[in-house]
Amino acid sequence: MRYAILGDIHSNETALQAVLKHIDRENVDVLVSVGDVVGYGPSPGACISLLRERDAVVVKGNHDSACVGELSIQHFNNYARKAVIWTKGVLTKDECKWLSALPLSVELNDCEVSHGSLFQPELFNYTQSISDADLSLETMKTPVCFVGHTHVPVTLWRPATNGGTTEFNFEVVIALGEASKSLVNVGSVGQPRDEDPRAAYALFDSKQQTVELRRVQYDIDLEAAMFRDAGLPDVLAERLYLGV
Ligand code: ZN
Repeated sequence: MRYAILGDIHSNETALQAVLKHIDRENVDVLVSVGDVVGYGPSPGACISLLRERDAVVVKGNHDSACVGELSIQHFNNYARKAVIWTKGVLTKDECKWLSALPLSVELNDCEVSHGSLFQPELFNYTQSISDADLSLETMKTPVCFVGHTHVPVTLWRPATNGGTTEFNFEVVIALGEASKSLVNVGSVGQPRDEDPRAAYALFDSKQQTVELRRVQYDIDLEAAMFRDAGLPDVLAERLYLGV
């Protein structure tokens, strides 16, 4: 099976369309989203529709949860909070119902998926250290789990050769067979934060046991204009150019 795994889309339709165009050339069997489909950007409805049309497997992110009123925005920064309030105002009843029904984690045949951490996914904790990763790695039932949330692509894995100690791996092609367990952060489609403004996604081939972390250029000028037309905070459009 070939899986395309999309990180935090955040209502960026231009980036999502560019990534889907790429994926269409890759013989993908299953489309997966690690959550945060909405929040920040101007096109929540269009992004939800594109995933629904393709029967994507989607888990719930903290912004998805906040935009349907399930999670408090108290701990969100000022701009994120403004975008959540804006999104709440434009989501239809049906879109809210769909977001609300999303699971917090999913176990598929070859992998697991969660937004921030597979351990207590309802807390939306970030996986930023070896000890954070160990919590998910201990919880995993399959050899590989995909997450997002930090918007920074990275793999935390236990290479078979080092006695099972967890390590960081910044390679863009990951040979899963070399590890006992791997936790892959696929980065972000709509709001990358690793100083690379291109949209990020991952291709997972379960037969080959490989993961490729891909980047796709998209029309940031067009998307930034859509942010401004929607009246969203200018800083959210500006950061698209910097990938921060
Ligand atoms: Zn996010």
